[in-house]
Amino acid sequence: MNYEFPEKLKSLVPYSPGSGDYSIRLDANESFLTPPADIMEKVSAAAMSVPLNRYPDPRSAAVCAAFAGYYGINPDNVVAGNGSDELISVIVNAFTEKGQRAAFLEPDFSMYSFYSHLAELDTVIIRKGDDLEVSADEVIKTVNDNNVSLLLLSNPCNPTSLLLSSEDIERIIRSVGALVVLDEAYMDFADCSLIQRMAEFDNCIMLRTCSKMIGLAAIRLGFAISNDRLTSVLLSAKSPYNVNRVTEAIGTTLLSDRDYVNHCREEIIRSRDLLFDELRSLKLDGFHIYKTSVNFVLIKTDKANEIFEELKKHGILVRCLGGYLRITAGSNDENEKLLSALKDICNTI
Ligand SMILES: *Cc1c(COP(=O)(O)O)cnc(C)c1O
Repeated sequence: MNYEFPEKLKSLVPYSPGSGDYSIRLDANESFLTPPADIMEKVSAAAMSVPLNRYPDPRSAAVCAAFAGYYGINPDNVVAGNGSDELISVIVNAFTEKGQRAAFLEPDFSMYSFYSHLAELDTVIIRKGDDLEVSADEVIKTVNDNNVSLLLLSNPCNPTSLLLSSEDIERIIRSVGALVVLDEAYMDFADCSLIQRMAEFDNCIMLRTCSKMIGLAAIRLGFAISNDRLTSVLLSAKSPYNVNRVTEAIGTTLLSDRDYVNHCREEIIRSRDLLFDELRSLKLDGFHIYKTSVNFVLIKTDKANEIFEELKKHGILVRCLGGYLRITAGSNDENEKLLSALKDICNTI
């Protein structure tokens, strides 16, 4: 009866995405697309042919090859994960020791801070200003002045929707004495990926995910891309069967369908641009709409909380982050309903 939890667990609460019954979910940056019937047939056939009694391939070679084929990179430099979330956890734990320092920006993806806390790292936070832009020089200086071992950042950034140039990112990687986790979860919606150059960097692991452009959030599939040395450490540090066979079979099927993947990208970018343009043209009072390189739009408004609550009454769930609303680009119908509800709400509050 004298078991005590370690200190680090005492303040933790379970991650709780928006729950409840909403007809329109624009809160989690998921894709609004699902595969058409002919592709769903291939997906079913692939899933059905999985030998359920057999462990998966620890290397996940088939899905790594399909991913590498799509992006034109060497599959030997790719490691698959149970979502990129799992890979963040593996990297944070494998490449650091208790008491070392991790740095991340604020705001940025909340999982960086979560896994750093669990690994008992000291954290150094680089706060973004009102414009939410990132200064590469400030990042480099903070990381080096504070003897940071691990730097985590998303580019383009969730939740700011902003993009840092590949020149700035490369300068950060080359100038810091830390391992850089470069999370390109949304880079399919922008156009300055370093994915083809990862073999050049001794201190950078890139993360990509199938949860956004390809619309596979349900099956949990993400990838780490890095040079040979980092890849071999990652392969040794991950759990052996981290990607299940059903996920691998479905992921391989979709990643091998270049036309479908390209179609997803084009449709989501089209929806994002439309949502952004229409939001701007509403000219709502006190709204600052950030330019976007992702599949969502970020709005700064003093009334974020009220609008969030009112949208829920219209059956629409978005994400409310302090004085910001983060709205995922949806189908035409979803975007139209969102825009019309927003117009009504802002006319009455
Ligand atoms: C959505 C997202 C991910 C994806 O995580 P998965 O675990 O692959 O679903 C990773 N990083 C960022 C910044 C994200 O927004």
